[in-house]
Amino acid sequence: MPLSAENARIRLRIRTGALSLTAAAGILGLKFLTYRLTGSSAVLSDALESIINVVAAAFVMLSVWLSAKPPDSSHPYGHGKIEYFSAGFEGALIILAAAGIFRAGLASLLRPRPLPHLDTGMLLLVAAAAANLALGLLLIRVGRRTASPALEADGRHILTDVYTSAGVIVSLAVVRLTGKLWIDGAVACLLGVYILAAGIRLISQAYCGLMDASNPELLASISAVLREHRRENWIDIHQLRAWRAGDNVNIDLHLVLPRDLTLSQAHAEALAVETILKEKFGQQTTVLVHTDPCPDPSCTLCNLHKWNRETLTMASEDKKRLAKQCNSCQSKQPRNNEPETETRRKQEMATIFTKIINGEIKADIVYQDDQVTAFRDINPQAPVHILIVPNKEIPTVNDVTEEDEQTIGHMFTVARILAEKEGVAESGYRLLVNCNRDANQEVFHLHMHMFGGRPLGPMLMRQ
Ligand code: 5GP
Repeated sequence: MPLSAENARIRLRIRTGALSLTAAAGILGLKFLTYRLTGSSAVLSDALESIINVVAAAFVMLSVWLSAKPPDSSHPYGHGKIEYFSAGFEGALIILAAAGIFRAGLASLLRPRPLPHLDTGMLLLVAAAAANLALGLLLIRVGRRTASPALEADGRHILTDVYTSAGVIVSLAVVRLTGKLWIDGAVACLLGVYILAAGIRLISQAYCGLMDASNPELLASISAVLREHRRENWIDIHQLRAWRAGDNVNIDLHLVLPRDLTLSQAHAEALAVETILKEKFGQQTTVLVHTDPCPDPSCTLCNLHKWNRETLTMASEDKKRLAKQCNSCQSKQPRNNEPETETRRKQEMATIFTKIINGEIKADIVYQDDQVTAFRDINPQAPVHILIVPNKEIPTVNDVTEEDEQTIGHMFTVARILAEKEGVAESGYRLLVNCNRDANQEVFHLHMHMFGGRPLGPMLMRQ
């Protein structure tokens, strides 16, 4: 998820938290006014619950602000868990209020008192309940949209407030119709029990979050993303664990790879897992990938790698034979004297882009025609990082021939089109082609990097 989208999400949460605090204070005033008018203990229980809303909304504001802070050296997993703490704190306050409500209800059940101004009181309560309903639904929606348990918990709490207000309005209406004053106290006691249950539920949710209880929904969505983007070399993924801390998702898993992969290939696969998961769950996600060699000696994928290696070894033996035959003519010897494993690695890496071009490996393709394909880099180094690749497999710039001139020129036209499409044509961008070891070329299929979307700094790393 891009950084600007994340910032917008955080701003939305903070704005909603502030709105909740202001609205809760206004509604509290309305309910106390109703209590002063009617003297009803059921209305008092409702108002007491609203005091908690105000305190809880202030706490939610604090935790939303804290959880938005990025990880630092003393909190390497971020500050997201404060939101569970906030939900737990709110649960504890609700339980406290339930006890108070129960006491007031019992008193008016045993010693019923007259209730004046019932009509005005009921009207005020209806207005307060309507305001609370709108606020609660808004908080739940924003909490879900911005993955904030604190906002969602606050929204749920406010909805319980709506139900209690509705109960109180009905009970006042019954008292007014029947004149039976004890109903007011009885309803207050029942509300106390209901509110107690809501508080216990919130505390248990907070406990699960703080104790990193397993989250089947999160695990299912991680599995779905990995299945959708599965790469050819991924034999299996197991020991998948994940937990949420507010906005932060922490994921660790074991990735089984063919036993013949080189260290740098295995690293590239682990990096791909990390990039895919960060794209889905946000850049602040922590991903830990443990790579395992495939344990099955008869695994078809591993044997395919072995077969590739043997084929390449045979090719290299042919090269040696050729070199012997040409002993008299040094210039005809193969120029390439790099280690055989390096050659193999380069050949395997080169095919990655051909597979992307042919649609065998998934990539975010932004342009394609019969000469050139462009797709977003799997490990972007700038907000815009696109690779522009000739469909023909040319290993490096050193292998470009006259017949490729049209295609190479066309790559620049595609760069211009994409710069306009990505909105970086005016602000500026950099086109870069790496060639061989000193330039750190990793994929030996000629490609042009297009970087943009932020100031790109000096052209070369300083010595
Ligand atoms: P080089 O260092 O060869 O100039 O750059 C190779 C680029 O290819 C790197 O930036 C790397 O992130 C990217 N890359 C490697 N494998 C894949 C892949 O499977 N998909 C995509 N989209 N990019 C890849």
